[in-house]
Amino acid sequence: MLMNLFKFKGGVKPPTNKTQSLSLPITRAPMPSRLIVPLHQSIGGTPNPVVQVGDKVLKGQLIGEADGWISAAVHAPTSGTVIAVEMQVQPHPSGLDALCVVIEPDGKDEWIARTSLDYAAMTPEAVREHLQQSGVVGLGGAVFPTHGKLTASKTVPMDELIINGAECEPFITCDDLLMRERAEEVVRGIAIFRDLLQPKKVLIGIEDNKPEAAAAMRAAVNAQNEPFLVVPVPTLYPAGGAKQLIRVLTGKEVPAAKRSTDLGVQCFNVATAYTAWRAIAHGEPVVSRLVTVTGNVHAPRNYEVLIGTPMGELLQLAQPNPDTDGIIMGGPMMGFLVPNAEVPVIKATNCLIAHDDRLFPPKAPEMPCIRCGACAQACPHELQPFEMYWYARAKNFGKTQEYHIFDCIECGCCSFVCPSRIPLVQYFRFAKSEIWARERDKNAADGAKARFELKQQRDEREKTEKAEKLARAAAAQAAKKAAEAEAAAAAPATGSDEAIAPASSEKPVVVEVSTVDAEKAAKMATIEAAMARAKAQREAVKPKNTEALSAQQQHDLDEIEARRVALKTTAPATADAPQAPPKVD
Ligand code: SF4
Ligand code: SF4
Repeated sequence: MLMNLFKFKGGVKPPTNKTQSLSLPITRAPMPSRLIVPLHQSIGGTPNPVVQVGDKVLKGQLIGEADGWISAAVHAPTSGTVIAVEMQVQPHPSGLDALCVVIEPDGKDEWIARTSLDYAAMTPEAVREHLQQSGVVGLGGAVFPTHGKLTASKTVPMDELIINGAECEPFITCDDLLMRERAEEVVRGIAIFRDLLQPKKVLIGIEDNKPEAAAAMRAAVNAQNEPFLVVPVPTLYPAGGAKQLIRVLTGKEVPAAKRSTDLGVQCFNVATAYTAWRAIAHGEPVVSRLVTVTGNVHAPRNYEVLIGTPMGELLQLAQPNPDTDGIIMGGPMMGFLVPNAEVPVIKATNCLIAHDDRLFPPKAPEMPCIRCGACAQACPHELQPFEMYWYARAKNFGKTQEYHIFDCIECGCCSFVCPSRIPLVQYFRFAKSEIWARERDKNAADGAKARFELKQQRDEREKTEKAEKLARAAAAQAAKKAAEAEAAAAAPATGSDEAIAPASSEKPVVVEVSTVDAEKAAKMATIEAAMARAKAQREAVKPKNTEALSAQQQHDLDEIEARRVALKTTAPATADAPQAPPKVD
């Protein structure tokens, strides 16, 4: 069946250099001396180690538990002993290290008990869960956990499921050989994805420089009576980019801010489909992958390699020439030189290229940009690389974002065509890492500010609560004092006009006394007590030779004192005011 194909903008045609590694079939790489298995091998959360130094493990045994939904489990690639759980340098341009489980193989390569599952009898959730637990991730390079892409949208119907067999990067041939030799299992894996996502169409895109792979896939599709379409697409780098392949096969343009599922399309690599089938039908988690070993070597070839194999040991199998001075992981367009030969093969490793100056001559010095626009014409994402370069160089990172630097897939087309030999992609990587670093710093500062404001709010709240508590205590104290004063004032009236206590067991007779009367009585009692104290004090200070006051004089003095005390007693006073002793003037 013929299909209308679409073109994506830009793209380049570098020398493919693929034939060198296609002359021999896939072979299994021998057991390495040790396996260094990084726990973080996919997008998302870093799996937590579940083994310790000294543990004996079997091939396929869980060694790293997925951390959250967007994360995938990690397994022992062979049987042996855990000899370290430690930080090791990673196969990454940064050269940073990350936590790894190091296993010394016992040579038996003994599997865990493996169970074949009938996925048709399982719920979609159970299938996704099983794929996550089996560590299935995108093997085209993105290493996104596959189960996270296998939930159909509730709002947008799935129109097309795209299977990516384009393999557009020069030198890399592992997908080509996988399709040639293991097409049946690839197609069975595609069927699992189809059953979970229920698309209207399944399209398998393969670059037209791989006719053998396309033929093998077509034969497998027919043998399994599947309605999948194998579609040869023009060989043009980067046709294997997910967005570019979707564009070529469906005509749909996935905007930068959207996911392909928003347009009813989902995309998986052929190797991902293969590992999904192995996980379901054979109970095998992802412990190995196909890797092309090529470049400056005598025997380029594709190997089935255990995850964690040191790259240097793998490269030796292909007999590198003595002038090899480095290892590129990935292709020459998007790959990078690894920090050293000890770094391990990981799930994202599809190719190792032995580097030398003959294959990759040192670039002549960078020249000034002449604004020729060739980079913009080559960019498959319709960006303006020379503008991004200019602002990245000036460290004006805000401007690089205005020019959509995060839409750049670092495909390298712009650098490839630049007549001034400007390493544009390196500038873009630098700008992105600076923006991320600043974003991290800003988030940290925002977090600190939020924590400070929360603390201030808490301090204020505690202060208010304390003040309220003190006010309540003071009010209670005042009420208590008032009650005591009232009781004290009422005491002298007992037996006179307040109440008559029962003389016997007869029912008591209570005489109602008004509050005003009680207050009066209290005041009178206070006045009398004050007069008595004043008199006593005068007597105490009276000189011995002073004549006694006449009775009338004494009476007048007492009356004056009594009035003064009465005035003081009736004057308003605060509840907490201290009780000053009456003074004699
Ligand atoms: S291709 Fe190079 S020289 Fe030409 S505009 Fe782009 S960056 Fe400048
Ligand atoms: S590296 Fe980025 S800017 Fe350059 S061509 Fe590719 S997508 Fe465009």
